[in-house]
Amino acid sequence: MSQRVYLFDTTLRDGEQSPGASLNVSEKIQIARQLAKLKVDIIEAGFPIASPGDFEAVSAIAREVKGVTVAGLARTNFEDIDRAWEAVRFSDQARIHTFISTSDIHLKHQLRLTREQVLEAAVAAVKRAKSYTADVEFSAMDASRSDLEFLCQVLEAAIAAGATVVNIPDTVGYAVPDEWGRFIQTICSKVAGIEKVIVSIHCHNDLGLAVANSLAAVINGARQVEGTINGIGERAGNAALEEVVMTLRTRKDYFDYFTNVNTEEIYRSSRLVSSLTGMKVQANKAVVGKNAFAHESGIHQDGIIKERTTYEIMNPAMVGISKSNLVLGKLSGRHAFRQRLEGLGYNLSADELNSAFIVFKKLADKKKEITDDDLEVIIDEEIRRIPHTYALEYLHISSGTTIVPTATIGLKRNGQLIEEAACGNGPVDAICRAIDKITGLNCTLATWGINAVTAGKDALGDVTLRITIDGRKTYMGRGISTDILDASAKAYVSAVNKLVWENRLVEDIAK
Ligand SMILES: [Zn+2]
Repeated sequence: MSQRVYLFDTTLRDGEQSPGASLNVSEKIQIARQLAKLKVDIIEAGFPIASPGDFEAVSAIAREVKGVTVAGLARTNFEDIDRAWEAVRFSDQARIHTFISTSDIHLKHQLRLTREQVLEAAVAAVKRAKSYTADVEFSAMDASRSDLEFLCQVLEAAIAAGATVVNIPDTVGYAVPDEWGRFIQTICSKVAGIEKVIVSIHCHNDLGLAVANSLAAVINGARQVEGTINGIGERAGNAALEEVVMTLRTRKDYFDYFTNVNTEEIYRSSRLVSSLTGMKVQANKAVVGKNAFAHESGIHQDGIIKERTTYEIMNPAMVGISKSNLVLGKLSGRHAFRQRLEGLGYNLSADELNSAFIVFKKLADKKKEITDDDLEVIIDEEIRRIPHTYALEYLHISSGTTIVPTATIGLKRNGQLIEEAACGNGPVDAICRAIDKITGLNCTLATWGINAVTAGKDALGDVTLRITIDGRKTYMGRGISTDILDASAKAYVSAVNKLVWENRLVEDIAK
């Protein structure tokens, strides 16, 4: 029978230890809420004794995020454990996770403790944690470089003292899959009492093997996998949970295990973690990278159009990506072009398709990759010929660190100049408000993004944004200028023109 593998997410603890990835309390709560939607089993919310901010985040998550176990990390000293308990106690499923190194390298050079002292500290810590909560995880730090005899002895003692989960970390990313699998198997067969607890692994990616090692451990008895979203973490990071989950699911024929994860929340989780930590996901990253479902070669594109499974082992919808991206470029044929337009909701006549395809080919000569936004602009400008109800006449901005950003804008409508000024939270916000005053529309900026079209200091900025009025349908606008505020104003005006035209909001449109 298929067996359950529990997922222990440490994005907020080990993941946050990534250089440069610090999160404030409210960002951590946002991520924890998303992890609960993703349905991971345990959220390691932080290391409560490390700082007041960490304590506050763990305790807020324990109080506010329900339906998931919340763990707090602690070394073996009692101050750490007491503090961890203080932070997680209001969770309805609280776990204390305590750890100590078991490798001679760490004992000798870092802890300066004997093996006997480590054993005693582990037992005392587990007992202390157990006095607070039934759910106690013990980790033998640097297990992969520890003497196996001694490691087994410590795990056995931790279990006898009350640990319910024993974690075997490859702290430094030293393990290789086959050997690591045998290592876990030995532990599972040798340690007395191991059948009563959950065996966990925590692999680092220094050699790019964290996910492979995690899976090798699962095959050999591990039932909890620790990892992070996007694989962020110390140094080269942790095992990427989305890769572990999708391997178990995609290769169900090979791995007879299941997780409780709602895979359709994977992509959203990845994007949230990336935007809040500022750690970009590489384009070719498995499962969640921008290119993970993109097909560039003409042969592959042709296959995918005929039958998705010809070149795709996972359905992008399964991880929450609405459609697979055939990368449109100059090699793309008419078939792929039409298919993508249909995917975007455009059903063109043969004539319209021909003229759009000509414009597309011209653009593809200049630009390596044609995005959905590019296609939308082609259709708006060449096929639908959306009238320029409003046109930007001039823009004046005063902005700086000590003044309230203010925008003064002149738009022309039917040859008549209309001027307004507005303040905002930032210059872009001020621009949007001033334009709204002119149009009398109360639009919300749904997205705003910028790309540099050319390199260098005089680069052209290409601003793409989306606005909405009812919160459902969004209207895309785009503007290009050497000044990003000018580009933003142009983009906003073009989105407004589209909104006005599609909803027939004005009668006197100048054609
Ligand atoms: Zn770690």
